[in-house]
Amino acid sequence: MKEIELSGLDTLYDKKVQCPFCSHSFTSKKVRIKFIKPLKVDSDFGPIFAKEDKNNPLFYYVIVCPNCGFSFTEDFSKPFGQLTKQKVEDEISKKIDRNIDYCGVRDFLGAERAYKLAIYSGQLIGENHIVFANLCLRLAWINRGTGKKEEERRFLQLAASEFEQSYINTDFIPKNMPEIQILYLIGELNRQLGNSSKAVRYFSAVIGHPEKSKNSKYVNLARSQWKLAADEYRGIK
Ligand SMILES: [Zn+2]
Repeated sequence: MKEIELSGLDTLYDKKVQCPFCSHSFTSKKVRIKFIKPLKVDSDFGPIFAKEDKNNPLFYYVIVCPNCGFSFTEDFSKPFGQLTKQKVEDEISKKIDRNIDYCGVRDFLGAERAYKLAIYSGQLIGENHIVFANLCLRLAWINRGTGKKEEERRFLQLAASEFEQSYINTDFIPKNMPEIQILYLIGELNRQLGNSSKAVRYFSAVIGHPEKSKNSKYVNLARSQWKLAADEYRGIK
């Protein structure tokens, strides 16, 4: 048993899934919880994994259907109309390279490809902003783990903007991610991007939120990051 674990064969398992687009049933890899060992968890909740760590659960967040190529996450919720069905068939199913195995073990490049396919699939069917926010934030974390600073920043910017749009349009599911957490993330991502005054505005919305007593974790985080943002703002001035 030990040997199997050490060889890495047992760290992943196959999860049964069904494609929401073509109804094909297949399996997609997931990392067993006991093998998930991030180096640290950042102030935007990003679990950061060593570059050589193959048991990175972020690699397996996106599911790619081997039959039609439609790529999705658990957040996807939009129904398919006739027009969007045609778009997915023309733009993805007819074009996808079926020689690439998205259901097996993934490395950084395989994961990156799967994320970009999910972003494209989501765009074709007009998914909610929260879907893109979560995809872009995770793609930023993966890039952070591999030291790709420019790509990290690019996806942090997209994530910040999509979270903001999700908040404005209230297209998130509070049970999955409460509003106060989204406000905190908009603040923290903007702080990381150097938009200190915007960060402070969102942190103050967290601290004054009607549900602050139920969510002291975010209030405490917002207080400490607010101080950082204010110091950074004064530093810039
Ligand atoms: Zn499919």
